[in-house]
Amino acid sequence: MSSRDSGGAASPPSRGHCGLRVLWDERLAGYDFGPGHPMNPVRVELTIALAREFGLLDRANVTVAGFDAADDALLGLVHEEPYIAAVKHAGATGLPELRLGLGSADNPVFLGMHDASALIAGASVAGARAVWTGEAEHAANVSGGLHHALAGAASGFCIYNDPAIAIAWLLENGAERVAYVDIDVHHGDGVQAAFYDDPRVMTISLHETPRTLFPGTGFPNETGGPNAPGSAVNVALPPGTGDAAWLRAFEAVVPPLLRAFAPQVLVTQHGADAHALDPLAHLILSVDGQRTAYARLHELAHEVSGGRWLATGGGGYELVQVVPRAWTHLLAEAAGRPIDPLAATPDGWRGLVRLRTEEIAPRRMTDGTSEVHVQTWESGYDPANPVDQAVLATRRAVFPEHGLDPMTDI
Ligand SMILES: [Zn+2]
Ligand SMILES: [Zn+2]
Repeated sequence: MSSRDSGGAASPPSRGHCGLRVLWDERLAGYDFGPGHPMNPVRVELTIALAREFGLLDRANVTVAGFDAADDALLGLVHEEPYIAAVKHAGATGLPELRLGLGSADNPVFLGMHDASALIAGASVAGARAVWTGEAEHAANVSGGLHHALAGAASGFCIYNDPAIAIAWLLENGAERVAYVDIDVHHGDGVQAAFYDDPRVMTISLHETPRTLFPGTGFPNETGGPNAPGSAVNVALPPGTGDAAWLRAFEAVVPPLLRAFAPQVLVTQHGADAHALDPLAHLILSVDGQRTAYARLHELAHEVSGGRWLATGGGGYELVQVVPRAWTHLLAEAAGRPIDPLAATPDGWRGLVRLRTEEIAPRRMTDGTSEVHVQTWESGYDPANPVDQAVLATRRAVFPEHGLDPMTDI
């Protein structure tokens, strides 16, 4: 299980047919901060409903499996015991514990909060286990990706940090190198913090610059602790960054670092809030740009980590127009059967959207940008361009730690 070579005899073989384990049951929609909160679980309900309408969950290579809530020992791989106790207390009494971020406007206390949060963590761990043992090549938990939760505090709508707990589980079970790529519009600060000084985990986050967006961290000079130089990677993009520039930044940073690090497992966080319509942030991606990024991460999982890939959801606050389509594309991609972007959204799903939200559903799976043309770093860079400046700052900060040339390597 701990072979250094991802293709070695002790590692599960890549089977090449994209077996996908989907971690889902209705209870995951119980992670609900209540009316008026931006992170409404209708977004995951509508995602699963759309995926079902496309028949994705009925495919022979897709299994929808049960899972248990994470117990205290699992949660304790990342979270401090007094914090877990406080979440349980708040979830049982409804009383805030503001010192630990519980009961703020971002993280209102709700009854059953511990159980709902531990269930999401358990789903991500079940995904990690399926991928690590070879039961499934890929796994996806669209209700997960709660990347802001800290060891001892709730933050940014996140109670327990399911991606960090899943990664910690992998390390406990013999993984020696795990890469985490976070494409949420916000910095993946909680996951970065959990492994900041751990050379076994590389965290890469592409996000809107902390100068204009929560949580105020994720600058390129955050590169890892003294025992793990270059293990934290941050691409801080200017407001207004769209598909082509975002994908150019992705290509200039993510593939070369993943190839250099050679992870045994790839864990990805797919917050859909970099979309232009998202109400909480200022990047302007389309569903087509997002879909392109998912396809690249899928390709990279096969290239660098023997196909072992755990994908999670994350942020995303345009509940109807964006999140369900973005993550249905993600599930389809992970199942090895991408959906034609020109496909119409099924009538049944549009009816459900009307019923559940009184909104008019999007009619197609595209935003109209079927092919995103990306100019790669190879073709040169423009020192006056703010996206290129951001990319170069990141490359300068971490590439030398991995034996890569910040100016030329791709
Ligand atoms: Zn695959
Ligand atoms: Zn976010």
